[in-house]
Amino acid sequence: MKLLEGKNAIITGGSRGIGKGIAEVFAKHGANIAFTYASSVNAANELEKELTSLGVKAKGYKSNAANYEEAQELIKNVAEEFGAIDIVINNAGITKDNLLMRMTEEDFDAVIDVNLKSVFNMTKAVQRTMLKQRSGSIINMSSVVGVKGNAGQSNYAASKAGIIGFSKSMALELGSRNIRTNVIAPGFIETEMTEKLDEKTVEGWRESIPLKRGGTPEDIANACVFLASDLSSYVTGQVIHVNGGMLT
Ligand code: NAP
Repeated sequence: MKLLEGKNAIITGGSRGIGKGIAEVFAKHGANIAFTYASSVNAANELEKELTSLGVKAKGYKSNAANYEEAQELIKNVAEEFGAIDIVINNAGITKDNLLMRMTEEDFDAVIDVNLKSVFNMTKAVQRTMLKQRSGSIINMSSVVGVKGNAGQSNYAASKAGIIGFSKSMALELGSRNIRTNVIAPGFIETEMTEKLDEKTVEGWRESIPLKRGGTPEDIANACVFLASDLSSYVTGQVIHVNGGMLT
């Protein structure tokens, strides 16, 4: 059964990893996909082709999520090219890990701008369209680290915790117009972001997870399908933990 037939979705950071996984699963569920990326032009072109071959409309946009004007421009272009905007997934994210003692101001600001300010930029830009439609589902990608904290990731943890507070506030502000805002907090999902870690650390993590494996982009995408579809029409302001039991 296709759960997103005819819906239009924007996914930030769709060129690889979790965002790409969401784009693929959404397209299989019949959603048209506008996705963004920072610099991976070839990967974006390939994904555009792959999604189109599944019978949906798909387009990649080079757009820096951290930039307020670029987010405004993106929403304007997507609204022109796709019409309605039913779903926004704020997924673009980066890490610049270091102990606070060694963390530079630039690395703190960059992570806050790409991970957290981007969510403000995109929500602000899409708000008018969704208010007019009187419907919308916004899904913001936090992290287990935003809930629990992590040594060496204070910038990342602050950005991901900030996403939760922002999203709960949006659920309260926009709920009366049938715009839902929810958060997904992934645990350890095996993508390029986690490939930077050494294999021994990764093996230790897998062993400590109750389900005994790292998650896949598809695990996150399936939770996004629920939050984007009418199956969750009475769910807003929530954080869904998709982490194999990591925080239990
Ligand atoms: P990834 O493999 O590193 O992919 C990041 C994506 O974001 C890429 O498509 C990248 O585009 C895009 N991006 C980066 N900076 C951007 C910017 N300024 N503007 C627009 N797009 C930008 O990351 P991932 O592992 O899939 O993670 C996706 C999200 O899930 C992130 O928010 C991350 O914090 C969160 N998350 C991940 C995990 C995990 O274990 N992997 C766990 C919890 C939460 P380019 O290809 O052009 O660089």
